[in-house]
Amino acid sequence: MILPLVKPRFLSLCLFVLFLLMELIQFSHIFYFKTPLNVYSLHLMWGEFKEIALASQGVLPWGLFHVFVLLCVYGTLIFLYLKIQSKTSFIATILLILLLSILPYKALFKSPHIRNFVPRNDDISLLNDLKVFTAYFLIYLKTKNKDIPKYLPYELSYEKVSPRNIVLILGESVNANHIALLGYERNTTPKLKELALNDENFIAKKALSSSVLTNVSLPMFMNISYNHNDIQHILNENTHLFKLAKQAGFKTYYISNQEESLLSYMSSNFIDVLYTKENYALKSSKIGDLVLLKKLDELAPLFKEGSNFIVFHQRSSHVPYKDQYKGYKQADVFPLSRDLNQNIINTYDNSIIFDDYVLSHIFEKFKTMKTPTYILFVPDHGETLGELGENNQSEFHHGFLSKNVANIPIFASAYGVKKDDEFIKDLRQIFTPTHYELGVALAKLMGFKIINPNFKQGIFYINGNDLAGNNGYIEVLKQGEKLEFKTHSP
Ligand SMILES: [Zn+2]
Repeated sequence: MILPLVKPRFLSLCLFVLFLLMELIQFSHIFYFKTPLNVYSLHLMWGEFKEIALASQGVLPWGLFHVFVLLCVYGTLIFLYLKIQSKTSFIATILLILLLSILPYKALFKSPHIRNFVPRNDDISLLNDLKVFTAYFLIYLKTKNKDIPKYLPYELSYEKVSPRNIVLILGESVNANHIALLGYERNTTPKLKELALNDENFIAKKALSSSVLTNVSLPMFMNISYNHNDIQHILNENTHLFKLAKQAGFKTYYISNQEESLLSYMSSNFIDVLYTKENYALKSSKIGDLVLLKKLDELAPLFKEGSNFIVFHQRSSHVPYKDQYKGYKQADVFPLSRDLNQNIINTYDNSIIFDDYVLSHIFEKFKTMKTPTYILFVPDHGETLGELGENNQSEFHHGFLSKNVANIPIFASAYGVKKDDEFIKDLRQIFTPTHYELGVALAKLMGFKIINPNFKQGIFYINGNDLAGNNGYIEVLKQGEKLEFKTHSP
């Protein structure tokens, strides 16, 4: 609405052309990679222009379709703009400049971190363009480690496995210290405890997440990423769990109570059946993760036969904790408190009681199905609730570099398989498994052996809150039953 009023008029025309160029790059990226353009892809694009041009020849002429559509849309816009003769004014120009300075202002002064400029699947493409290009030119090009580190590619070997369900439950912000099954004094996991008593394959143990933030740990875990800064491996998606599952002939399901925007990390090209929060938004706001159980009941007949890779994605226990369990009255055990920290802990523990109900329900459901099923619960990262950090300060919530945020629980079992199953045996043996080791174990269940030439025995990494590893990381040294953490601050 402002553009026709802008003085001088060629300024608006320049803007149209700029938008068109950004949209061309954006849609080419979506066409080719099926995800919105991000800062790192943009950077790689300049360096590998020749390779991309060669690769894109294979998808012509369909690759030209979006170019044609964009040219039509912007051509019409420019044509109409030239036809409409309105009064112009410098006030409109100032307004336009103010509007267009919002993102550069954020990038330069208010929140100069790439993580604040991550494109979203559910945003309009022009907003994603502005975010990514602003972050690229005003933040990324100023960072020291611009060059994306080169690691050796993983090698894969494959051997077909017997038909089975592989169930992965992705948790949200779960702190291992608040799990009764792992020694917490409050009984936050009554149902899982009962399940564990009657299931000789049941495993509950502490583990370590690959990062401290959803947007970093999900792509790292789903891609079985080992190094904290192997962005190239993540962008390639060569060992993405959904891709591997499809390659091994599994039918793939993603049933999530999180937003569609997280699909950017799920390689959605390789998902056959997909539900996100948007599919049941109203219900989700009322009953939270119970929507996952409803979907499970609905789809369960499909899981009785064949090979399925089923991923559930929980929203609980994300802040605000007390909103997570309002659909399950029995979770309201610990009262609201006037003491701020106590209130955080009480409502958090209630949310874990709710998780306990949801998780045990999913485990039970597959247990009664009699189909060979492997089931694993892994949170994206932990959540601190007053644990002491390196500088002896109490830490709360997540998103910052601390080993306490990576402290997660895992639960696993196997049903309808022979005693002494390899997956269960392996998992029992691994002391404090990391996201990476769990990813390797899941790939193995699908029939893949991952040979990672970058792997160093006994060394693992916890990335900070930047996907490219530019915001610090923690080196984890594992020796026998001993863990040592070395923090590398940014
Ligand atoms: Zn998260």
